[in-house]
Amino acid sequence: MPKDILVVEDEPDIRRLVVLHLEREGFRCRTASNGADALREAKRAVPDLVVLDLMLPAIDGLEVCRRLRGDAGTAGVPIIMLTAKSGEVDRVVGLEVGADDYVVKPFSPTELVARVRAVLRRARPAPEARVLSAGPLALDPARHIVTLHGRPLDLTPKEFDLLAALLEAAGRVLSREHLLNSVWGYARADEIESRTVDVHIRRLRAKLGDVGSRITTVKSVGYRFEPE
Ligand code: CA
Repeated sequence: MPKDILVVEDEPDIRRLVVLHLEREGFRCRTASNGADALREAKRAVPDLVVLDLMLPAIDGLEVCRRLRGDAGTAGVPIIMLTAKSGEVDRVVGLEVGADDYVVKPFSPTELVARVRAVLRRARPAPEARVLSAGPLALDPARHIVTLHGRPLDLTPKEFDLLAALLEAAGRVLSREHLLNSVWGYARADEIESRTVDVHIRRLRAKLGDVGSRITTVKSVGYRFEPE
């Protein structure tokens, strides 16, 4: 599916130029020529990325950016600011309000397209990279961090993978064989190897404190992370 880009620019020539180059590269574009239209358009259907001019009549680009960031529905949408001012302050402010990148006018359309691609690449979370959470527990696969009540937990790599598998299963029971296969890479599990899982689960429970009791043993099957 082509990526849906919302181009917000009040100058018709620049708007047309940006759209022309983005569409030529396979992006689908929607346009808005002022802040109010941009916000309405972004809310109606959340775009994959917003190219946002800083100097807009009435509601300016910074305010549009703030409002997009302040709305849960659009808070995560990548934003590239277009600015005519090259002063450091504007750049910093642009990034401070949450823009992902900026391009200074006059810009080459090729450069803008390259920035759009780069920002989209950064923004796209790998399917397995989303943060898994359960109450006070959060596991971030991309950063390889587990936190409990906001504090980092010191887990071994196996404990980390085991917890990730349990959280990903979202309440389904995982057999020892499944865990041995997915976490340890064993094709078949014998008695001793199955006990390896039990030992790691025990250690993991201890490290998880009050959340540890949510890893329950399903007799003669395996383990489950109890949903809330
Ligand atoms: Ca403008």
